This record gives sequence, C-alpha cells and structure tokens, in this order.
Amino acid sequence: MDEITTLADWLKTSQQIVAFTGAGVSTESNIPDFRSAGGVYEHIQEKYGREPEVLLSHRFFMQNPKTFFEYLREYLVFPDAEPNDAHRAFAALEREGKLSAVVTQNIDGLHSRAGSKTVYELHGSVYRSYCMSCGKQYNLESVLEASDVPRCICGGIIRPDVVLYGEGLDSEIVTGAVRAIEQADLLIVAGTSLAVYPAAGLIDYFQGKHLVLLNKSETPHDRRADLCIHAAAGVTLRAALEKAQIKIDA
Ligand code: ZN
Repeated sequence: MDEITTLADWLKTSQQIVAFTGAGVSTESNIPDFRSAGGVYEHIQEKYGREPEVLLSHRFFMQNPKTFFEYLREYLVFPDAEPNDAHRAFAALEREGKLSAVVTQNIDGLHSRAGSKTVYELHGSVYRSYCMSCGKQYNLESVLEASDVPRCICGGIIRPDVVLYGEGLDSEIVTGAVRAIEQADLLIVAGTSLAVYPAAGLIDYFQGKHLVLLNKSETPHDRRADLCIHAAAGVTLRAALEKAQIKIDA
C-alpha cells in the first residue's frame, strides 16, 4: 500500500486527530523559513549584524525596540500571505469532526484564517499586539502604521503578542496543547524538524495509534514515526484527503 493510501486510511478511521505544525507548512504560502530557506538567514545577518534569533530575543527588544520593529515589519509580517492546502486540510478535518486541535509554532495566524477553530499558538501571533504598560489590545495595523516604536495612548510600548527568545511560553496554551496531544489517536507533525524546544518534548505526550511526520527533509525523529512522507505537507494532505473522500475546500 502506498503512503498516501495509508495516510488516507488513518484519516478515515481516526476521531481525535491533532496537527502539530511548524514553519514548513507556511513556506507553501511564501512565508520564508529563515532556518532553512536559502539565503534569508545570511541576508538578515548581514543587514543587521546579528542572527535572527538575537533580533527576536527579549533582551534585544528591550534594548533596541526601534531596530526590533524594523526587523518585524520587514521579515515577520506577510499581509498578502494566504492559507495553503496544509492549513485548509486541517480546517476541513476539524469541520468533519475528526480533528480536535492544531498546535502550531507559527506566528502567522494562517490556521485561523483557513477556518481552524481550536488552535494553540505556542509562540503567539504577530496579528495581535498589546500595550506593555496598560495591557490594551491592538491589531497588526497599529504596529505597521507607526513610523517608529508603536506607542499606546497611555504612552506605553505596543508589543506583538509573540513569545521572544528568552521568554516563557503561556502555560495555559501549553496545558491545552498537551491535553489535546495526550488524547489524540493520530498525531500529524507537519513542516517541522522538531529541533526547537519545546516541540520535541510535546510530542512525547502522544500515546495514540499513529504518529505521522510530513516534512520536506528528514528529521531526527523519523525513526519514531509510523509513517514519514518527505514532500510538501500541503500536496501530501490534499492527496490524502481526496483519497479519503474528505472535502478539503469549505
Ligand atoms: Zn497603554
């Protein structure tokens, strides 16, 4: 039996699917993954004299907010990006009552835009912002429209609701993600090599039937999986849903 048929069979027979996604599912929406995309990492390093991880750290943000927001506007916000077949497939599986949650490391908001309802955004979302002084919430536009560091009407700095390097994850979101993974019968890990904390740790909570890895390249966790498909996740998922006769488009 070929791999797509196997995945299609598991989609049909599973009731509590959880998707765990990373940057690789958004590259099909033309959002570059700076860890693997050729040249982007080096380009950023050259332009700012620092690694992307440093630019996205809590320490750097506090010390150089102006540069932080320049970087954010240029490299982390993609207003024209649209959900792709990977996002659409998970939204469709949820509509069918087969998928209980999407857990994502991405901050691009594309799972929600595709129609997914239960989404645990481990690293937050660049579409939400809040004032560091009074907590007032703002949207992305207020960050994009500011010419310098965006300021609240109270004078405080408006920051994106994303988890920077050196900051802890939201414990409620982690708890929700762990609970969903613990109860899943099929876990589909897509577009992540699971190299970044806490991704690999969360996968350890899975005790269901089938672990599937959809990633363009090999990952250190391939051996643990019941099925690995090394291709673009969106292409794989569309083929599998069609074979399982699950409508992918809303
Ligand atoms: Zn404020």
